[in-house]
Amino acid sequence: MDEYPHALRTRRTDNSPRLRGRKLQARRLRVWTASPCCAVCGKLTSYPSGFELDHKVPLFKGGEDTDENCQVLCVNLGGRSPGCHEHKTASDLGYQLKVEIGLDGWPVED
Ligand SMILES: [Zn+2]
Repeated sequence: MDEYPHALRTRRTDNSPRLRGRKLQARRLRVWTASPCCAVCGKLTSYPSGFELDHKVPLFKGGEDTDENCQVLCVNLGGRSPGCHEHKTASDLGYQLKVEIGLDGWPVED
């Protein structure tokens, strides 16, 4: 009875104002519609799974979470070589693909 319920442990504190869910999906469509080609390699990406929104100035470097600060980057669809999004994320962080970045542009903290 005095055991702490496992479910009470907070897996993640998330009180930041970053977009998620339907608002993020709407932004993806807006940004992709305005410019559906990868900002790095110029490849035409497919909606919805062929690209990720990337923050030109990463949020953790003080970039704004706005449409204007977002661009389309291609992602790797299967296979092992990263797409431009994975490459940029790695260089933004200053090291190689050690941190997983969520769809909203923030490192996944699990
Ligand atoms: Zn690309």
